[in-house]
Amino acid sequence: MRPKGKAPDAITFVIDPGHGGEDNGAVGPTGIKEKDVNLALALKVAALLRERGFHVEMTRWDDSFPELYNRPKLAHCSGADAYVSIHHNAPAAGKNPKSVRYHAVYAWNDLGEGLASAISKRMTIALLNLVDGQGVLRANFAVTRNPEIPSCLVEADFISHPQGEKDCANADRQLLVARAIVSGLVDWAEGR
Ligand SMILES: [Zn+2]
Repeated sequence: MRPKGKAPDAITFVIDPGHGGEDNGAVGPTGIKEKDVNLALALKVAALLRERGFHVEMTRWDDSFPELYNRPKLAHCSGADAYVSIHHNAPAAGKNPKSVRYHAVYAWNDLGEGLASAISKRMTIALLNLVDGQGVLRANFAVTRNPEIPSCLVEADFISHPQGEKDCANADRQLLVARAIVSGLVDWAEGR
């Protein structure tokens, strides 16, 4: 359910920077780790949401690894209105990393799809002519499989792609993507 009519300070977003600790996630061609760019982007999203008056919880604030199932659990315990996991992608083994690059937002059910779609629309506008968008895709990830809380997983770019890696480590690009994610969350919260 969208928290329509609720004031921002009555709305809680849980932001989950994917991976962390010993789990690097994907690694780019020059060695940049997904866990680090996920955290950098997630911290920008959290800061922008707080500026707008929303309540924000993070599954991690540093290079630690919260257990996979504890991440959506935090969403339950904090009475979250929505849960967003932040990642950067890499292609399946055997594919040429130079040939695959897009952003996409993954949802598990209809509840998550509304949230995913709001974020995806804003990302598509922000990254027009920069990175192709695949829109909303369905996937069965542990962190988004949540029947009660609207949940989605953002794959902001491909860290495995040479230019993708440069862009996802770039602070200005992170801010552009963070602003798009936050605009999507605001659209969703306002029922647009
Ligand atoms: Zn990941």
